[in-house]
Amino acid sequence: MRHAEILHRCFRCGYCKLPSDYQDLNCPSYLRNRFETFSPGGRMWLLRAWLDGEIKTSPRLGRILYSCATCNNCVEHCPFPKFKDDLVDAFIAGREALVDQGQVPSGVRDYFKAVQISGNPYKKPQPERGDWARDLGPAGYSGQEYLLYVGCVGSYDERGQQTARAVAGLLKDLGVDFGILGAEEHCDGNEVRALGETGLFALLARQNIEQWQKLGVSKIITFDPHAYNAIKNEYPARGGQFEVFHYAQILPGLLRQAAPQARDETLSVTFHDPCSLGRHNQEYDAPRRALQALPGVKLVEMELIKKDALCCGGGGGNFFTDILGGGPESPARSRVRQAAATGARVLAVACPSCAKMLDTAAKDEGIEDDLTVMDIAEVARARCRFG
Ligand code: SF4
Ligand code: SF4
Repeated sequence: MRHAEILHRCFRCGYCKLPSDYQDLNCPSYLRNRFETFSPGGRMWLLRAWLDGEIKTSPRLGRILYSCATCNNCVEHCPFPKFKDDLVDAFIAGREALVDQGQVPSGVRDYFKAVQISGNPYKKPQPERGDWARDLGPAGYSGQEYLLYVGCVGSYDERGQQTARAVAGLLKDLGVDFGILGAEEHCDGNEVRALGETGLFALLARQNIEQWQKLGVSKIITFDPHAYNAIKNEYPARGGQFEVFHYAQILPGLLRQAAPQARDETLSVTFHDPCSLGRHNQEYDAPRRALQALPGVKLVEMELIKKDALCCGGGGGNFFTDILGGGPESPARSRVRQAAATGARVLAVACPSCAKMLDTAAKDEGIEDDLTVMDIAEVARARCRFG
């Protein structure tokens, strides 16, 4: 197993499951399950015992390994330099070992099968991949400045499609020159990699890289931060050198230039950092600058933000497999309670998985009338007039 040599270095001090002020539980997997084996340090020791033959492969081991949301809170807060950088990759390596043994949980197996057979986790036909954009005109990339890469959630999930339309519509309002691939687009593979299927991920990455190179794409805007993470951090080693942006990164400058007008009275908005943009890629400011560029929007912050933000629980494939699980102590429900405590009327997000997880959580908490979950692009289009 990759990183097997670092497992013994964990001291089980427990800092990895907390934020910077040590006041809350900030590892979603531990927060939800409250057993030490579900914490980052516990998972390190469990992996070591497994590799040493002290425990056997079992469904419970699979559940523990796959309940990690790969949120990187542990990487941010473990005090041991260098060692900490490999924590999440060690957990992914544990999953890879389970994949090699053919012993993954059934939800993970179904996910891989769906991507292998249908090209997406929703088991929907490839020709329907571009349906979300039907009203935007014909799909296609023919040398525009950017390729807007949408990903599986934006292409097939109803809430994701709604948000993808808002993002594409906003980019159009702001005069961005972009093309989309519609039914020709393929899965980026970020969750496939996080779930430990390296062979399938390599295949998907190669397919995308070859297609984009053939089309002459050089600049990509991603709708989904998970796709941004894969294209930015994993594709270059496979020969895919593209200039990649998450859409929130290009908004602040464009919004300032466009000088939109407020449609309504001031709205208080809080922002949830998506892990794949924040802790994984240190982009904390662009989404905030985008919100602050909207007239009539007042940004109020939650207590746990940026590197201390609590993950919604959808990362590491959990959005699809739900191995982490729901309930009142689920990270998504904890997060919407944190958002509601600010008094904000809107919880803004910049990720389709966060949008869906937090939307559902607000309903489960019964606070959906007081706190509306909206993508930044939805906030912009609902609150501002362009042109
Ligand atoms: S991973 Fe780091 S912070 Fe967590 S228990 Fe081990 S040594 Fe401590
Ligand atoms: S990546 Fe997040 S969920 Fe996974 S062990 Fe670390 S803190 Fe917990």
